[in-house]
Amino acid sequence: MFEEKDPAKTGLEKLGEFGLIDHLTSKFKLTQSSTVKGVGDDAAVLKFKNKKVLISTDQLIEGIHFDLSYMPLKHLGYKAVVVNLSDIYAMNGKASQVLVSIAVSNRFPLEALEELYAGIQLACDLYKVDLVGGDTTSSDKGLYLSVTAVGEVEDNKVVYRSGGKPNDLLVVTGDLGGAYMGLQVLQREKEVFKVNPNNQPDLGPYSYIIERQLKPEARKDIIELLKDLEVSPTSMIDISDGLSSEILHLCSKSKVGCMLYEEKIPLDPTLISVCEEFNLDSTTVALNGGEDYELLFTIDQKEFPKIKGNPNLTVVGHLTESDQGAHLISRNNTSIPLKAQGWNSFG
Ligand code: ADP
Ligand code: MG
Repeated sequence: MFEEKDPAKTGLEKLGEFGLIDHLTSKFKLTQSSTVKGVGDDAAVLKFKNKKVLISTDQLIEGIHFDLSYMPLKHLGYKAVVVNLSDIYAMNGKASQVLVSIAVSNRFPLEALEELYAGIQLACDLYKVDLVGGDTTSSDKGLYLSVTAVGEVEDNKVVYRSGGKPNDLLVVTGDLGGAYMGLQVLQREKEVFKVNPNNQPDLGPYSYIIERQLKPEARKDIIELLKDLEVSPTSMIDISDGLSSEILHLCSKSKVGCMLYEEKIPLDPTLISVCEEFNLDSTTVALNGGEDYELLFTIDQKEFPKIKGNPNLTVVGHLTESDQGAHLISRNNTSIPLKAQGWNSFG
């Protein structure tokens, strides 16, 4: 866990800005053929042949998006990259480069930034993307991180949020709600620790959902799987703010309605038992808890045989005409209008 300034650690002032950039980035290797020039000039140079270029950026602010008392810096670096790559995959693209900008205060020693960059590097290695630039500046107190991801996709293969048609099937990957409940467990343990610092929590039973929160993965594998199965999604979005809010985005951009079946929503057994423990409804958590970074996409019904039985893919409903609205069909067969609560409103 991250501690306040430690005299045994190296102050950032010892390196200076350029020394710091060099120290943090020199270990990164370039592997992508589309990278012509990475870190070290006024701009990175990329070259994509006959491809559409995808660009997406996200910020992570200390105290709002992460809490260093339970988020190790290495995990934070990893997650910051992964959540950006998720946006590229959600366009049916291949991620190829990232740029990482940081604002740090002198509260952070060099060792802390090394941890952060170790996580960034791990994500770059695993997802095969090059770090090609960024910016480094100082902040008054907190840590601010901004990651920009770049990717490519063949001209006619981009998948937008807007391509869904009535009767298309709604498909989600993996399982939902885990990242949100992982956060609930971490926050509860932080409070217990404040009251009794000698109390060592046993987080073993929660490891799956804690990992979903601290070390999420982007579904690069699904983009490759869909290509192998020769399935062309008609629309797609990544699930960062909860299934409900993402379905509503898809429906509004595609100008359609939908029926989502509660009994079909994929939940991990750990999630179900932890929801019972916290007295929360697991469907509500799956609908409104954020940060799962799974994919939500639609396919023409004719494509169903190609995905049938795949353990990574669950059909949770279908699209309808827009005048039908967006509805959840509950287990007892009542129709409830879907609302976008988003994870923030959980408080
Ligand atoms: P400039 O003043 O032209 O913006 P910088 O000194 O900020 O140049 O950056 C020099 C090089 O280092 C650039 O290639 C930039 O993209 C890269 N860079 C700066 N900060 C970071 C960082 N935190 N992570 C990765 N690359 C960085
Ligand atoms: Mg700069």
